[in-house]
Amino acid sequence: MNKEKHFSSMGKSTRAIHSGKLADSLFGEVSVPIFQSSTFAFPSAEEGAARFSGESPGFIYTRLNNPTVNALEDSVASLEQGFGGMATATGMAAISTVFMTYLHQGAHVVSTDSVYGSTRVLLEMELPRFGAQATFVDTSDPEKMRKALRPETRMVFIETPTNPTMILTDIEAAAQIAHQAGAILVVDNTFASPYLQRPLQHGADLVVHSLTKFLNGHSDVVGGMIVAGDEENFKKIRRVLSLFGGTMDPHQAWLILRGVRTLPLRLERAQENARHIAAFLSTHPKVTWVRYPGLPEHPQYAIAQKQMDGFGAMISFGVKNGLQGGVTVMNHVKIITLAVSLGGVESLIEHPASMTHASIPRKEREEAGILDELVRLSVGCEDFEDLREDLDQALNQIP
Ligand SMILES: *Cc1c(COP(=O)(O)O)cnc(C)c1O
Repeated sequence: MNKEKHFSSMGKSTRAIHSGKLADSLFGEVSVPIFQSSTFAFPSAEEGAARFSGESPGFIYTRLNNPTVNALEDSVASLEQGFGGMATATGMAAISTVFMTYLHQGAHVVSTDSVYGSTRVLLEMELPRFGAQATFVDTSDPEKMRKALRPETRMVFIETPTNPTMILTDIEAAAQIAHQAGAILVVDNTFASPYLQRPLQHGADLVVHSLTKFLNGHSDVVGGMIVAGDEENFKKIRRVLSLFGGTMDPHQAWLILRGVRTLPLRLERAQENARHIAAFLSTHPKVTWVRYPGLPEHPQYAIAQKQMDGFGAMISFGVKNGLQGGVTVMNHVKIITLAVSLGGVESLIEHPASMTHASIPRKEREEAGILDELVRLSVGCEDFEDLREDLDQALNQIP
């Protein structure tokens, strides 16, 4: 880990392209090879013993570590400016591993109310079986976060921006509140990616990612990552991850590392498209409101400016005619693909009230800000004019 400390003073694009290179190359290869091996030979019994005891850094077995996976871990840790990364099979494996590491019988979590759906279900329905409880609050309000703390609170878990409501939490304020209570702060940084937001720099202890989204960026692999800010947390989590076994496969790591190399290029382009689309939607007669952190009317515009390097490529907006209006847009887009997930080079659209969040009772859904008319758009890297025309014709199908 942190073999490339020397890259840490370099720019984000240089790090995205060069970090996570192997220390020793066999043939001068430029791309990191895929080490498709489940186990690694020890040159001697003594060396085998030294690897197991941690005295020697060599590889043992792919569930524990693998050179290709290690390269991806170093690359994302370098982008997040953290101590070390740990790659996981999926984003949910990263999140569940963090919960399994820090929570125990009687422990309490304060979480953003509109966290990723599966995170919420895990906290609400599964963790109580192990005796841990969660309270869900609107963490964009630091007072609400503070009031939700209990003596047994071990973790504050925030997602910023949130999915699909695009609400922001002040990371620095959340870190202060968590630390004063003796809890750790974990940030799901999937929506912004480390190219736009580095929570560890604002006081967070851990960052989790679904690499499936912007970091991989091509809608073809699933994966996750935990980045720890310091060695103590890194070691704690690595142990639990190895035991629970939600680690990553080398081929998966190689594909995602290839995606990371172009993260800055993709995100710059998608973000530029998103800025124009947010402006276009704001004046469209069939659109009732637009939520994008780069619009000055966004309720946490000041926080976005404080903690983000850019406003990202995710937009949510309301359409006329409520649920039916949303369904109409879904059924008429041609270039923009009707699919869940986000962060790929292709633009994706979805309608939470009829799809991802349809199982949540309407009252609860609306309390969390997921209104019937809300449409979520993940802006890709196509030509802006084509995206604008596609949205325009689909919106105009709403009576
Ligand atoms: C997709 C997503 C996850 C879960 O990641 P998987 O790779 O699907 O397991 C977690 N958090 C956020 C914000 C996501 O968008």
